[in-house]
Amino acid sequence: MTDLATRDALEVPRLDVAAVRADFPILARQVHGRPLVYLDNAATSQTPRQVIEVFDDYYGRYNANIHRGLHTLADEATAAYEGTRETVRAFLGAAETREIVFTRGTTEAINLVAGAWGRANLKAGDEVLISRLEHHSNIVPWQLLSRELGFAIKVIPVDERGVLDLDAYARLFTERTRLVAVNHVSNAFGTVNPVREMARIAHEHGARILVDGAQAAPHQRVDVRDIDADFYAFSGHKVYGPTGAGVLYGKASLLEAMPPWQGGGEMIATVSFEHETTFADIPHKFEAGTPAVAEVIALGAALRWVSGVGLEAIGAWEAQLLARATERVSRIDGLRILGTAPDKAGVLSFVVDGAHSQDIGLLIDQLGVAIRTGHHCAQPLLHHFGVDATCRASFAAYNTLEEVDLFAEALERVISMVR
Ligand code: PLP
Repeated sequence: MTDLATRDALEVPRLDVAAVRADFPILARQVHGRPLVYLDNAATSQTPRQVIEVFDDYYGRYNANIHRGLHTLADEATAAYEGTRETVRAFLGAAETREIVFTRGTTEAINLVAGAWGRANLKAGDEVLISRLEHHSNIVPWQLLSRELGFAIKVIPVDERGVLDLDAYARLFTERTRLVAVNHVSNAFGTVNPVREMARIAHEHGARILVDGAQAAPHQRVDVRDIDADFYAFSGHKVYGPTGAGVLYGKASLLEAMPPWQGGGEMIATVSFEHETTFADIPHKFEAGTPAVAEVIALGAALRWVSGVGLEAIGAWEAQLLARATERVSRIDGLRILGTAPDKAGVLSFVVDGAHSQDIGLLIDQLGVAIRTGHHCAQPLLHHFGVDATCRASFAAYNTLEEVDLFAEALERVISMVR
């Protein structure tokens, strides 16, 4: 622990970590007889009681299918579900609620853009730019579609710190570039990408930009209009919400022009065997079938919780945690941090000479510390850096400096055991 880290931590008075922690029942549990130190937040963040309570309330009081019922329960469920749309709109700074489509998560949102916008707008000879930093969920949907349609995928390179090369990015554009698909924050390295600038460059070339915000939404304020994103996606379970609910933001003009993605109930205006079936207005055109009603309502509670704590306070606090963790693990002999971008979210990825990441992950769990090991669904990135796997600690609003110290001590112990 450095004096600097302590002083800086004290200069972030807006986040009361003890009060934040009190909202998370799971943080009281023990793992292998030790207090849980949960540092796998980039995979899934924990859930405050305000979100957990939504499920009891919904299933205990007003469980009903939405939109089509005339009875009281259906009305209440519809109002709560549609209320979340407004919460998401405000959270993202979007202009209109009809620009907010509920999905199962980021993966489904990107597949929706590929399947609906991509299929209608891409053809052989076109080009899609994605970055070396992408999660598989922003790579594979484009690869699948490119096999079918024959467009080319070009990769925006990274430097040795895991920072995107913006000059190279600008040079990749041709008159056939139709789309840029890039993450806002890298899940593997924590790099924060300059998506506003990237959107400006994409638009200058007449291309659209899809931003994967899965790792940004929990850590910083997002304003889709300021970024000028054409599409923006995030997942509820990484932003203190439930699994099974996520968001696709799309500019209304784009969503309106897109064909439907999945067909079924809810997304139609009229269905006929004699005439053309017609579709509902956006966003309902993209929400076929019964959605995850309780999960979406709980997502609303999560976003209200995050906004109540304040994303600026959360981001500043996580920066303290990251600085402390970086400083502590840097002292460990033979430990190499991957991802050293100057602008980084709370993600610390590293490898250790003479120690397998998987062994570290398993052994540190025995000490109550949950980190993630593996390729983090970013194999092209890890292979570029010459590794198959890293250990990754990732931070959230409820983590403490003491937990960072416990993690660093546990890591030192585990490394001494496996070497
Ligand atoms: N994009 C990024 C950057 C991610 O970190 C993740 C999940 O780890 C995803 C997309 C996929 O999110 P989900 O599995 O919630 O669809």
